[in-house]
Amino acid sequence: MAIKMKILSAVTASLLLIANTLCHAQADSLSDYPMAAIPGGIVSVPLGITSHERPTVKLGKQPVLTVQETSGEWVAVVGVPLEQNGKLTLTSQQKQWTVEVGTHDYPEQHITVENKRHVNPETNDMTRINKEYALMGPAYKGYNGIVAEGWQKMSWPVKGPLSSPFGFKRFFNEQPRKPHSGLDIAAPAGTTILAPADGKIVLTGEFFFNGNSVFIDHGQGLISMMCHMSRIDVKDGQIIKRGDAIGAVGQTGRATGPHLHWSISMNNTRVNPLLLVADPNGNQ
Ligand SMILES: [Zn+2]
Repeated sequence: MAIKMKILSAVTASLLLIANTLCHAQADSLSDYPMAAIPGGIVSVPLGITSHERPTVKLGKQPVLTVQETSGEWVAVVGVPLEQNGKLTLTSQQKQWTVEVGTHDYPEQHITVENKRHVNPETNDMTRINKEYALMGPAYKGYNGIVAEGWQKMSWPVKGPLSSPFGFKRFFNEQPRKPHSGLDIAAPAGTTILAPADGKIVLTGEFFFNGNSVFIDHGQGLISMMCHMSRIDVKDGQIIKRGDAIGAVGQTGRATGPHLHWSISMNNTRVNPLLLVADPNGNQ
């Protein structure tokens, strides 16, 4: 995966630039977060609600994460779908909010995969893949509990060069496939993977494309998925703290070398993990 770091830093810089210009004025707890009203980004939407109880706000059918600011106002923190165009509308039983979403032209990435079944799965592979989607879907759609420390800053699960950024339009053996829904961090096989934030393990397994994978529910629909692991050291249902070891880097599933694929999902929408880590440049 020969991605030029120049492209990566340009993408990161433009994301952060967009984030800075589109960022809403925030109170304390959200102010440190770069937001980006672009596909694959995150927007914060002040709701004008100061109720004691947490309001239920949805994007389509999916409830979104809400945070109460020190002023008492509730703010929705919403993952913007990669396929989103134009306006994004949030709804509650009483109200509706509309957010403008800009465009972002993610670069193309061309990857050569040796295992042809990882590009064009056979019929029995498809049976397996569909079973796996049926397990992963509910893990992504879960909306449980409360984020332990409020809207947490995440820490890097492993350190290493970013070998494939989020959102790139992908071609495997020159055939177009879905955009890259996470961030690839290159690291030697066997490197310990640390939980980026507190949470609960909601799914572990060995999947056709993703290899050995762990899903962590951080609360309110904020989910991490770690893929291509050589080893899984946690069990379904286990409660974990930030920094706990969850397994090791590998290249199981569709991977051209050892790396961690880290997806972050909010409201069942995959977003750029760089927008959630406390130190976006601290991966080295
Ligand atoms: Zn990846």
